[in-house]
Amino acid sequence: MKRVYNFSAGPSVLPEAVLEKAQSEMLCYGDSGMSVMEMSHRSKAYESIIKEAEALLREIMNIPDNYKVLFLQGGASSQFSMIPLNLMKKKKIDLVLTGMWAKKACDEASRYGEVNVVASSKDKTYNYIPEIDSSKLNPDADYFYICQNNTIYGTRIKNLPDTGNVPLVADLSSCILSEPIDVSKYGIIFAGAQKNMGPAGLTVVIIREDLITEAMDITPVMFKYQLHADNGSMYNTPPTYAIYVCKLVLEWIKNLGGLEKMAEINYKKAEMVYNFLDNSEMFSATVSNADDRSIMNIPFVTGNEELDAKFVKEATAAGLVNLKGHRSVGGMRASIYNAMPIEGVEKLVEFMAEFEKNNK
Ligand SMILES: *Cc1c(COP(=O)(O)O)cnc(C)c1O
Repeated sequence: MKRVYNFSAGPSVLPEAVLEKAQSEMLCYGDSGMSVMEMSHRSKAYESIIKEAEALLREIMNIPDNYKVLFLQGGASSQFSMIPLNLMKKKKIDLVLTGMWAKKACDEASRYGEVNVVASSKDKTYNYIPEIDSSKLNPDADYFYICQNNTIYGTRIKNLPDTGNVPLVADLSSCILSEPIDVSKYGIIFAGAQKNMGPAGLTVVIIREDLITEAMDITPVMFKYQLHADNGSMYNTPPTYAIYVCKLVLEWIKNLGGLEKMAEINYKKAEMVYNFLDNSEMFSATVSNADDRSIMNIPFVTGNEELDAKFVKEATAAGLVNLKGHRSVGGMRASIYNAMPIEGVEKLVEFMAEFEKNNK
C-alpha cells in the first residue's frame, strides 16, 4: 500500500523520517531491550526521553527560563477548563471570538466568571480576524484569550494585541512550531500535539512561572498547573509514547534548520495554494484578507456543492486525501502542516488545475 498525501486537519500527517525512526526503535529502544511503550515512566531511559523533548522544545522555540513546559493529557479542550480554574482570580477575562475553538474556550470560562468578548467575526462565519478596539480591553482582566490559528476557518491572528500587563493566553494547537514566535509575549501557550507536534494524547503547555499559583478550590487535582509543574509532568503517568514521537518531531525540525527554515517552507507552501486559488476561475479561498490567512489550514470552495463533492472524491482517488471541509464551512480544506512535504502541495495544485480544466 502506497502512502497518500494526507491533508487532514488533525490528527494529521507526521514526517516520514519520524515514522521510520519510530519503526526502527519500535521493538528495542537503545539498549533497553524494550519498546518505549513498555517502559516505566520513572526509568532512566524514559527520563532521558522526556528531558530531551523538553530541552529540544526550549531550544527550538527559544523559551525563556521563567517559563515551565508541561507535558499533559486531555487535549487542548481540557485547557479550556484548566486555564480559568487556575487563572481566574478576579473572575473577569477578555476574549476574541474567532471561531469554534475560541467559542468553546469562551463557554467553559463563562462557567467560572465573566467573559468580555472584545471582538468577534461570527457575523461572517469567522472568515476574517476582527479589529480589536483597545478601549474595550479591561486592564484588570485575569487574562486575555485568543485562538491564534483558527483550524476550521483558516484564519490566523498575525499581529498580537497589546494587552499591557494582562497575560495573553493563546491556543496554538494548529500553528505551534510553524514559524518563530516570541514566547515572552505570552502568559500561556498551549497546543494539542496532534496537528504539528506528534500523535494525539499529548497536550503541551508553556506557562510563565508567575501564573502558576493556587487554583480554585473546586479544581480537580489533575487540573492544577502547580501540581504538574512541581512534579516535572510526572505526577502520574504522562503520555509516554506520544512524548517520544514528539521528541522525534522536534529532532526533525532541528535538523531541518529550526523554525526559521520551517517558516520559509510553510510560507512557500501556503503561497502556492493561495496563488492558485486567487487566479482560479473555479476555486476560491474562503478567507480573502491576505493578512488573516492561515499558513496551516486553507479552506476553499467552488461555489457549487456537487462540484465540491466531485473534487473531494476524485482527489481521494488520486491519493490526495482528507480534503473535505469542516461541516460549518463546507467545501474543501487543505491542512498543510509542517510535515506536509512541498511535493504534496505541488501535487494538490496540479490536481486542482487539472480538475478545473476538465470541469469547465
Ligand atoms: C484541534 C484543536 C483543538 C482541540 O484539540 P483537542 O486536543 O482535540 O482537544 C483546540 N483548538 C484548536 C485551535 C484546534 O485546532
